[in-house]
Amino acid sequence: MPDSSERKTQITQWLKKEAVSLGFDACGIAKAEFLKEEAHHLENWLKAGMHGKMTYMENHFDKRLDPRKLVEGARSVIVLLYNYFPVKEISAENNYVISKYAYGKDYHFVIKEKLKTLIGGLQEAAGDIQARAFVDSAPVLERAWAVRAGLGWIGKNSLLINPKLGSFFFIAEIITNLELDFDQPKNNDFCGACRNCIDACPTGAIVSPKTIDARKCLSYLTIELKDEIPEEFAGTFNDRIFGCDICQDVCPWNRFSRPCTEPQFAPDEQLVGLKKNDWENLSEDDFKVIFKNSAVKRTKFNGLKRNIEFARKTKIRESE
Ligand code: SF4
Ligand code: SF4
Repeated sequence: MPDSSERKTQITQWLKKEAVSLGFDACGIAKAEFLKEEAHHLENWLKAGMHGKMTYMENHFDKRLDPRKLVEGARSVIVLLYNYFPVKEISAENNYVISKYAYGKDYHFVIKEKLKTLIGGLQEAAGDIQARAFVDSAPVLERAWAVRAGLGWIGKNSLLINPKLGSFFFIAEIITNLELDFDQPKNNDFCGACRNCIDACPTGAIVSPKTIDARKCLSYLTIELKDEIPEEFAGTFNDRIFGCDICQDVCPWNRFSRPCTEPQFAPDEQLVGLKKNDWENLSEDDFKVIFKNSAVKRTKFNGLKRNIEFARKTKIRESE
């Protein structure tokens, strides 16, 4: 019989192998503990109001910083990365632009299924354990956990950069009371003197390295904000109507992004066929069909129409 330390290592190795066979590109494990350094940063960011109208971010402050408040007796935070860089970008010619992560089926569903399979395997291997899966979920500071799990560093654009993958990936977590072998943070930051993302951001949302004022970020303005888009952003959308990839597109670490092989993330044919005129005339019924399984649904029909109209009218005004 292997002793408990050997068993822990066996399960950790099994987990990492299984994650790869499910399509994940990287898996790291951090010790579940209070995120002391991040507490200060999060508090200041919230106090400065940079979360805008995402008031849900003010809730569960303690839970966000301590995974043991999300899963009783949590010992490990398993962090997984899933590449979504598309095989081919949708042409921007005579078109509006949506973020690459939203091309295919809503990642929440695709990744949650894979996490469920992993948890099932862990339960088979380790018996009666507690485990909860999170994908882009508000109570978890996913990038901080990814750094702790040795998966990369936080770039000046505030995103996780992995030296092999760049930054076009989803981050998911499993918090469990099972103790596994922990990875070590790499404590390296390879942004160096680069400031491409800061310079390229059309709204000046990267207010200092690693700090985004969400109120100015196109991802917030086109997805999270439910009100009218403030006029001060006229002319900044440059045809973007759902999210924004600019600070990732200009990042040198994304030069070598490999296309994703998950068929569920391939864009819907109807989406690829849309041109500006089609977007502008999109009916609610079309929206329901084309975005049935898509993350774009998050804006709802009226939100998407608002974005299209704002991008259209402010561009016309700019060019007059
Ligand atoms: S997503 Fe776009 S708007 Fe937001 S910080 Fe990056 S470049 Fe700026
Ligand atoms: S663009 Fe440059 S500064 Fe920004 S995250 Fe990438 S490497 Fe870092």
